[in-house]
Parts: sequence; structure tokens; C-alpha cells
Amino acid sequence: MLNNSTLLLVQIGFTVLTTLLLIAAALSTDALAEQRLWALGNVVTCLGLAVGNMTQLPAVVHGGFSYALLGLGLALVLRGVRQFCDLALTGRWLLGITAVTFLIPAYFATVQPSQTARLVATGLLLGGLNLACAITLVRGLRGSVRAMMWIAVSGFTALGLALVLRSVYQLVAYASGPNAVSDETLMSITILVVALAQVTIAFGLIMLVAHRYAEKLNRLTLLDPLTGTLNRLGMERMGQRVLVRSRQSMRNVAIALVDADHFKAINDKYGHPVGDQVLVHLAKLLIAQVRPGDLVVRYGGEEFLLLLDGSGPESAFRIADRLRELVTQAQVATPAGNIRYQVSVGVSNTEKSGYSLAQLILDADAALYRAKQEGRNRVCVA
Ligand code: GH3
Ligand code: MG
Ligand code: MG
Repeated sequence: MLNNSTLLLVQIGFTVLTTLLLIAAALSTDALAEQRLWALGNVVTCLGLAVGNMTQLPAVVHGGFSYALLGLGLALVLRGVRQFCDLALTGRWLLGITAVTFLIPAYFATVQPSQTARLVATGLLLGGLNLACAITLVRGLRGSVRAMMWIAVSGFTALGLALVLRSVYQLVAYASGPNAVSDETLMSITILVVALAQVTIAFGLIMLVAHRYAEKLNRLTLLDPLTGTLNRLGMERMGQRVLVRSRQSMRNVAIALVDADHFKAINDKYGHPVGDQVLVHLAKLLIAQVRPGDLVVRYGGEEFLLLLDGSGPESAFRIADRLRELVTQAQVATPAGNIRYQVSVGVSNTEKSGYSLAQLILDADAALYRAKQEGRNRVCVA
């Protein structure tokens, strides 16, 4: 078996490497503030480990100050984790954690010297901080990024449990005299778990950040910045998916093209920014009225496309006409006063047009043209 000095060397190598990895990630352009906290936390932890190994220093330094650095490093990591979950960890907490991780081991190093008490107390404290990181992620993360959290969570949990369980073991062993497992073996296991957990945590955190970037990029490429609805690219991606699924389960899909009536006149009369406000109002109304599986797309300047999953021709007409009616009743509060507007809607359905998105849009557009021709503020079906 490997001896503990070799294992310790491996662990130090892992610590330095993961720290460098987190620093490199934090230095990349557009890095999140929490990435800098994770890198800084790891640097401080490295310092703490280095000071802890300098046994020639006074006891209060290598037995107290080193733990304060480890506590501060972990508190910075916890702050970064909380920030990633949109939660705060105030400077007062950072200070408190650092103070506690200094005072307790310093007490057992100087006032009442006890190696066991010091190891048990610091193991519980530092293990607890790692477990707090894991719990924060599990409870604090929302949305699709949750699927990505398990790597970091298992790393924090493994590290936390390793430290806490070692403390418990030491406490029991201390109380019951001679050890069943030698301290040497226990040390080896702890060093190995800590080293592997550190790598897992670094990878887990970087994966979380990567996922958040991907989400942001998706938002930028698939959504319309003004209204938050899908753009044309988003429609292509999501629309095809809906159509394939509904064709397989032989469900009808309807498309409604909603076009604001005489929108140019609104722009001309009140100005472009007010016109934008009306568009945002229309988008919100449409999003609020459709079902969760339906899509709302900004198809053109003042034209929105609804993809209504599971709607036959009659129900699509009813939905579209209800929307049209709601628009006529609504008022948009703008700096230029309350504005009313109207929409015309063209509706098509897979029952007649088939499951081709292009054909559905073509037919809905023809119906919309008819609605405009017949006097606007109405719904026409292909
Ligand atoms: P119709 O009833 O026939 O649809 O008449 P319309 O005036 O709504 O149609 P037209 O296609 O002639 O004009 C559309 C107008 O929408 C012209 C354009 O300036 C305006 N528009 C397009 N995109 C935006 C936008 O993002 N913001 C604002 N404020 N206006 C926009
Ligand atoms: Mg229009
Ligand atoms: Mg138009």
C-alpha cells in the first residue's frame, strides 16, 4: 500500500491543480463573480494547508491560524455557491466563520492542548461547511441547472461526510481506548476521499457555470429581446419538436397568426417607444392566455405566431377569438395615455394543412390576409 506521505503529496498536488483550474476558469472573459469567489476560496484553503504543515511555527499559528484560513477559504466557496443560487452570505458571516475556526483550534492548541479535541472540532466545522455547500445547491438551485448539480453536490457531500465521520470516529476511539482501525489507515482513507472530492467539486462547479452559460446563450439566440417570446429560430427548433410529437400521437395542432391592426398608425401617432410598449403588452397577453405546452413566437415586427398543441379547428377558432376579444377590451398604460388597439388573426390546422410547419404558416397567413380584407379585428380560419 502507499504510505501516507505519498498520499499526502498526491492530495497536495490535487489541491493545487484544482485551484489552478478554478483560477483559470475565473480569469476567462465574462466569468461570474462566484467563480472568482471559488478560486479565491481555494487559494486561501491552499495557504491554510501550507501554514498547517509548518509545525516549526508557534502552536497558535499552525494550530489556529491555519484553520482560520481553511474556514475562510470554505466560507468564500460557500458564499460563491449561495451567490450562484441567488442567495447572500454577508461579510459578517464570513468573519464569524473565520473567527470560530480560529478560536476553537487555537484554544485546543494553547489553553487546553489536545490534539484529538482540535481534530474533532475542526473536522466537524470544516465538514459542516462542505455539507452546507451541498445543502445550499440542493435547496437553492431552480430550473434546468438542477440536473447538473449532482457532481458538485456529491463532491461537497463526500468531503463533508469524510471530515465529519473522521471526527466522530476519533471521538469514539478516544473514548473507548485502543483503536480498532489504526489512525494510519483512517488517515489514508480520509486523504484519498478528500483528494477525489476536491476534483469532483471543481469539475461540478465548472459544469454548473457551463450550463448557465449555455442557458444564457440559448436565451439570446432563441428569444426575442423585446418581448421575451421565441424568435423565428426558436420557433423552428421548438415548433418542429411539437409537430413531430403530435403527429406521432395523432394530435391536432393549430397555428394562429396574430397581427396588430393599423400598427403603423400607432407608431406614427405616439412614437416608436410607445409602439414597443403595445407589442410587449400583446406578447404578455398571449403568453398569459395559452397553455404551458403552446408556443408564442414573435414572427415579424407586429405579428405573433401561436402554436396551439392539441387544438382542432373549432377550439383554435374559439381560443383565437377569445384573444382578439381580450385585446379589444385591454388598455395599455403609456406615457402618452391609455391606448387601445386591435388585432386580426388567421388560423390554420394540421387537419387541413398537414404537419408541415411551412404549410401551416402559409395557410394561416392566407387566412390572416382575408381577415384584414374583411375589415380587421376578426378571426379567419384557413
Ligand atoms: P395592418 O392592419 O394592415 O396590419 O396595418 P399595419 O400598419 O399594422 O401594418 P404594416 O405592415 O403596414 O406596418 C407594420 C408596422 O409595424 C410598421 C413598423 O414600423 C412597425 N413595427 C415593426 N416592428 C416594430 C417594433 O419592433 N416596434 C415598433 N414600435 N414598431 C414596429
Ligand atoms: Mg399590422
Ligand atoms: Mg404585419
